[in-house]
Amino acid sequence: MSLPIVAIIGRPNVGKSTLVNRFSKLQDAIVFDEPGVTRDRTYKPAFWGDRDFLVVDTGGLVFDDDTEFLPLIREQALAALAESSAAIFIVDGKEGLTTADEEIARWLRQQPVPVLLAVNKCESVEDGLTQAAEFWSLGIGEPFPVSGIHGSGTGELMDALLTHLPDTSLIEDVQETRVAIVGRPNVGKSSLLNAFVGEKRSIVSPISGTTRDAIDMVVERGDKPYRLIDTAGIRKKKNVEYGPEFFGINRAFKAIDRSDVVLFVLDAVDGVTEQDQKLAGRIADEGRGCVIVVNKWDAIEKDSTTIYEYEKLIGDRLHFLEWAETIFISAEKGQRVEKIFDLIDIAAEQHQRRVTTSVINEVLEDAARWHSPPTTRQGRQGRIYYGTQVSTRPPTIALFVNDPTLFNEGYRRYVERQFRQSLGFKGTPVRLLWRGKK
Ligand code: GDP
Ligand code: GDP
Repeated sequence: MSLPIVAIIGRPNVGKSTLVNRFSKLQDAIVFDEPGVTRDRTYKPAFWGDRDFLVVDTGGLVFDDDTEFLPLIREQALAALAESSAAIFIVDGKEGLTTADEEIARWLRQQPVPVLLAVNKCESVEDGLTQAAEFWSLGIGEPFPVSGIHGSGTGELMDALLTHLPDTSLIEDVQETRVAIVGRPNVGKSSLLNAFVGEKRSIVSPISGTTRDAIDMVVERGDKPYRLIDTAGIRKKKNVEYGPEFFGINRAFKAIDRSDVVLFVLDAVDGVTEQDQKLAGRIADEGRGCVIVVNKWDAIEKDSTTIYEYEKLIGDRLHFLEWAETIFISAEKGQRVEKIFDLIDIAAEQHQRRVTTSVINEVLEDAARWHSPPTTRQGRQGRIYYGTQVSTRPPTIALFVNDPTLFNEGYRRYVERQFRQSLGFKGTPVRLLWRGKK
């Protein structure tokens, strides 16, 4: 689910950087944690309406054979085009059509990428159309008169651009949800697994996991597949001797590592132990979705307040999982076992959720309005310029600020709470990256 990329092409000085800065509303280039995005080019996050994309500036493209670096420049431009969904070819409307533009156009027409033609430095509307008209001859299609300095015409250009970009919000993830069942020995993991793969449910197939003795199992509910990670590490066969490591903590860590959502099983009789806290910390650190499953609920004495006392205990002792839903079940009696799947679905969906940049910035503006960032004794105040989601699983949001040291822990937690209050993110951790100007 990486963002679409738009390549910016044009001679030096036609106004590429000016236009890019206008689309991206961000002065600094950033390195993205996105698969497929190589690190030696400059990417900037950009958005138009509710759509996000990255712009990559190819640098000034020259086709002058005297240039020492010609092959290198072309190679860079080709590499940028190869990963782009569309390109914007920028020319200088003030200067008019040049032979260098014609050469670039000839080269671009051979590339398998849709190209939009922006005629920059067209400040006045009437002159703009006349200025732009001569560029029809490039054979690239309609020339869009724009002004990078004033912003005029850029809306039409962006609207046209969006028609060429894949809508990443519509890409449906049909992949199976990878679920790890973890917990201390004897909390009831294998009983829960048996309840899951009971007679009612079709077991699609046991599949070899990545490690030598790990066996995953895929089960279906409705027509949704769930891959239960390392069921071999959970299931105890009678008459088989296993070493102590077979059910050990490393095995649980490996299962967490491979999962989208962790079912974290607690024993209602034991409450929350130190070992449970250790596992909970790992789940949060690894950024996995999580559902807290309190098992053996049938085995304890209950009155009307017991469940609230339990919720409080979990909130206090497992505060790093405060975003996770808790469900009280009996694996042995099959109570509420089915409901776990609904909570897995919610956590998995939130874990891979992508929020548009415009929504993120609305939340940030509201947050700063209710409660302004802290000011130092010397009178320096923190400022958040802009936020954008840089990856999913878990949702990770980069916040660009004047100076990260101006934001104390209290304010950071306030901002995270604001995101949760406005956007939910139930069942998944959310990461905020506070980035300053270098
Ligand atoms: P690049 O080399 O293609 O990235 O071009 P720049 O963005 O650095 O711009 C080159 C020059 O053109 C600078 O002096 C800009 O101020 C100027 N320029 C950029 N956009 C416009 C515009 O829309 N109108 C006018 N009149 N000048 C512009
Ligand atoms: P694992 O080591 O986490 O896989 O735990 P098991 O599934 O082997 O269960 C450990 C013990 O707890 C067994 O004696 C089970 O019968 C018991 N147990 C499991 N689930 C429940 C439950 O829901 N209620 C009660 N009362 N006992 C349970």
